[in-house]
Amino acid sequence: MTNVVEVVSMLWIFLNRSEIKLISIMQSLLFDSITVDEVYLPAATEKRVRVSVLRLDKIHPVISGNKWFKLKYYLADAASQHKDHIVTFGGPWSNHIIATAAAGKQFAFKTSGIIRGEQPQKLSHTLLLAKEYEMQLFFTSRHDYLHKKIPKEITGSSGSYVINEGGYGELGVKGATEILDHCKKESFSHIACAVGTSTMMAGLIKASLPYQETIGITMVKDEVSLKEELLDLLSPEERSKKFKLVNDHHFGGYAKHKEELINFMNQFYKDTSIPTDFVYTGKLFFAITDMIARNYFPPDSNILIIHSGGLQGNLSLPKRTLIF
Ligand SMILES: *Cc1c(COP(=O)(O)O)cnc(C)c1O
Repeated sequence: MTNVVEVVSMLWIFLNRSEIKLISIMQSLLFDSITVDEVYLPAATEKRVRVSVLRLDKIHPVISGNKWFKLKYYLADAASQHKDHIVTFGGPWSNHIIATAAAGKQFAFKTSGIIRGEQPQKLSHTLLLAKEYEMQLFFTSRHDYLHKKIPKEITGSSGSYVINEGGYGELGVKGATEILDHCKKESFSHIACAVGTSTMMAGLIKASLPYQETIGITMVKDEVSLKEELLDLLSPEERSKKFKLVNDHHFGGYAKHKEELINFMNQFYKDTSIPTDFVYTGKLFFAITDMIARNYFPPDSNILIIHSGGLQGNLSLPKRTLIF
């Protein structure tokens, strides 16, 4: 029911801006398509561990997963401040960029994406699609990107609302706390997710129950600052909850992939009919399977794995790499 209340309150904000067309969009955000699928992995059965998957990937083929959750309170905040231009950051394959572009298109915001790196001769699928959603792209050097430099064209215009890379920040976390509303969360002993900026994980920790452990599988080699960034999003009480960042399964760093990972993803699809992406969720499922095999989870554990979507990123792989 929270969804309905939320949709109505967001509609109210938007209707105040007389954006009637938003009705249909908000209806598409009712998340009816999300399911919790129990999967039967041989390794898990052997260790008497249960595994279920929260299918946020089913929300939408492109704008899927945690991104709507993380964006919605920023968009509501922008609308309530009468800002009509969303500015955000991301790499050339960023799921956050594409989700922001699509949300902007649907909710009648102008959008600008500040993209890491020089403009390539051939745009990625992600950026081509972002352009189709009428996002304006600005390519910046890695140095400027790191310093979150905003191009003059944007700073010069009024009405812009800046969202951090990956939706990092309090309002992103607030949206992510609602992810667990889509399952019977009390039945799980462990909640596992992929970590980019740690915004989703912070939301999951906030929403977790005292006996649950939240496990975040990190995707970058260097995670010194990541832990700090995660802690920054939590209150002192939340910091003492049970959670853990696991850094053993990055396969050489963000968006790098190895044959072993691809083979795993194909096998996982054969076993479960669940598609995964090679940047986040493939590594997540690989890591959890590996942790099960290494007896991390005591018998009778009931693990919930968040499938955070991101399947559009697989378009960067050569054709026929994946069987799905
Ligand atoms: C963005 C993304 C993540 C990471 O979420 P954070 O909140 O940035 O940690 C995980 N999985 C997928 C598929 C994503 O697109």
